[in-house]
Amino acid sequence: MLHIDAFVPGDSPCLVIGDSWIHADQREYVPVINPATEETVCHAPVATADDIQLAIATSVQGFETWRRTLPIDRSRVLRGAAERIRERADDIARLMTLEQGKPLAEARAETLSTADLFEWFSEEARRSYGRIVASQVPGVALNVMAEPIGPVAAFTAWNFPMVVPGRKIAAAIAAGCSIIIKPSEETPLCVVEIARCLRDAGLPNGVLAVLYGDPAQISETLLAAPEIRKVAITGSTRVGKILARLAADTMKPGTYELGGHSPVLVFGDSDAEGAAAQLAVAKYRNAGQVCTSPSRFFVHRDIVESFTESYLAHVDKIVVGDGLQDGVAMGPLSNERQLLHIVDLVSDAVTHGAQLAAGGHRIGNTGYFYEPTVLLNVPDTARIMREEPFGPVTAIQTFDTTDDAIAKANMLDVGLGSYVFSSSPETMIRVAGELQAGMVGVNTCLIAHHEAPFGGVNQSGYGREGGIEGLDAYQIKKLVAARAV
Ligand code: NAD
Repeated sequence: MLHIDAFVPGDSPCLVIGDSWIHADQREYVPVINPATEETVCHAPVATADDIQLAIATSVQGFETWRRTLPIDRSRVLRGAAERIRERADDIARLMTLEQGKPLAEARAETLSTADLFEWFSEEARRSYGRIVASQVPGVALNVMAEPIGPVAAFTAWNFPMVVPGRKIAAAIAAGCSIIIKPSEETPLCVVEIARCLRDAGLPNGVLAVLYGDPAQISETLLAAPEIRKVAITGSTRVGKILARLAADTMKPGTYELGGHSPVLVFGDSDAEGAAAQLAVAKYRNAGQVCTSPSRFFVHRDIVESFTESYLAHVDKIVVGDGLQDGVAMGPLSNERQLLHIVDLVSDAVTHGAQLAAGGHRIGNTGYFYEPTVLLNVPDTARIMREEPFGPVTAIQTFDTTDDAIAKANMLDVGLGSYVFSSSPETMIRVAGELQAGMVGVNTCLIAHHEAPFGGVNQSGYGREGGIEGLDAYQIKKLVAARAV
């Protein structure tokens, strides 16, 4: 039953529960598909009801050990994991390309960035501070203690198979929590490699568990369990709401990193060519399957022609193909669902009157390849102006006034990333202040940094990952009001 391809280092994806690494030959399994070839890469074992219960029990035990472990020792384990991720980066990157489709160079960059993330949290693990507050009662000292919140249940999307689960795992472990992670069944390989690096760096059994299987069954069981004290998800707003409802029954707090539909405002006084160059790279990275991908472009009427010409010249040069091949800049979409979604959105936009300036078609019949696509004069009635494409499609509209641009950007009830291009300090400051978003890039598309908070507003979710907020998300602040007797 077990299918392990020669290129998988070590072994197939596994369920990690306590000290057990349970393989696909011991359970029912789901195939993991290479989106470039549609071939089966390997199989992921499906957790049984007993596995999920056992993961909860071992997570409770793991928490009891880990919360008493000195911060300096937690820090050493995280640093050790970072070193191992770096050492194994070439193998891990290859696995990522096989399971997710992104070009090897992008996969390698994500893997190395995950190592940096673990290093950042190894440092944060040592810098967890409480505080002493002046009391109004003579003789009573108010001590605010930072304590780990408890066992965590985490769920992640398939678009960044290393760094997205890594943000949850590293922060929870730094804070002294145990964590059960359920990555996407479509991209299980990389998370097992994170688990392996942590194990080899000395993480005790039970602190990290990895489950896959039936997402609804796993989330319903974990969220109903009173032992689980926190939920963290990176995924769609739809699933985020399901989890938030489930979490309400046991009052679990959560970090919700959900969908976006990032607006880009390119003003008439901006460097149109420079903006086009940056945006073309940011838009088609990971085939547009990035929650902060620039996706609704609003360009000032005075420069829309020069901006579009320059942008199309960049798009034209994007080489699409199997991410394992040299010179490929954009891989396939990660799964068939995503391909069908993009086919549908582009066809709807054209039906509503948008003009196709580039792409607009599937490439070939094997693999989930789609052309880098640019749509001009997209009307508000087209679904793509409201629904997150999460794919390689740029939708461009024009605007005339700053008020108009801000209104268009804030038209939706999601707010994750947003981008402003202008040379006027006044415009930059005003627009950055007015945009309803968790992150604003001003003349830059680089808005995700381990050292800074990352997250959304409105229906893009709540809570922050990264920065000092990243550790805080896995802690409770306990007040000890003490009178010396
Ligand atoms: P998804 O919402 O379908 O799944 C996310 C995770 O939740 C998966 O592991 C899934 O198995 C799990 N899950 C738990 N309970 C579930 C249930 N009852 N039903 C279905 N799934 C359940 O998201 P996806 O398709 O994997 O990822 C795409 C979405 O993720 C996009 O909307 C994208 O914007 C978002 N995303 C957000 C961020 C961010 O940081 N805000 C980052 C990456 C992706």
